[in-house]
Amino acid sequence: MTIITCDCGELEVHFATTKPLFRLICCCNDCNAVLHWAAWKSGRTFYPAFQGIDKIYLQNSLKIVKGEENLRWVKITPGTLCLRGVATCCYSSLFVENLSILGPKIVCVDVDFCKVKGTETSEVTAQIFEKDIPGNRKRAVCDGFSGARFEKGPEDTPMWPDVIPTITKAQSNEFIIPDGFGSIRDIIEKSVNKHDWIHLEGYNDNGSPPIILAGST
Ligand SMILES: [Zn+2]
Ligand SMILES: [Zn+2]
Repeated sequence: MTIITCDCGELEVHFATTKPLFRLICCCNDCNAVLHWAAWKSGRTFYPAFQGIDKIYLQNSLKIVKGEENLRWVKITPGTLCLRGVATCCYSSLFVENLSILGPKIVCVDVDFCKVKGTETSEVTAQIFEKDIPGNRKRAVCDGFSGARFEKGPEDTPMWPDVIPTITKAQSNEFIIPDGFGSIRDIIEKSVNKHDWIHLEGYNDNGSPPIILAGST
């Protein structure tokens, strides 16, 4: 079992598995925007403004064991397909559901922006979406990474060596969801039905381009 808590410990979520399906460093605007917004909400400084975000991907089999009311969902950029779960008690960033790239069987965990216990170690598969890093940060963020690197994401690249086969294999994995565990989609639907999406009114980017703000949807 993998135990994931928010930074303050009010929210606790368990995943049935301990072995990440794969691990990516994502440099996309959307991943950076949620951290920028979360920092703003809680009065923290977010520096550097753009960075590669370390992410592990787990089988979609989880349950909330504590603090369910704190896990809320946000669409941080206009038209995004990433549904992001944040803990509103301390503005940790925990989960991403992305049906277009990951499909329904995989949940992304923001390992550096919440607390993760019990997972097996996993090598980084690739660093992706480098196209979103501003030119003046490229050197600091992208060039130090020695593994497989991709400027573009899967929407732009028909063949995404090293990454697509890994994701496809993980998507086709059959697994049994143990009693008491469920799907992230059920958790999202329950939360959004009760609390709605997080609204972003009042957010400004503090002059750190190029974060694009979503509307209230
Ligand atoms: Zn990303
Ligand atoms: Zn918290």
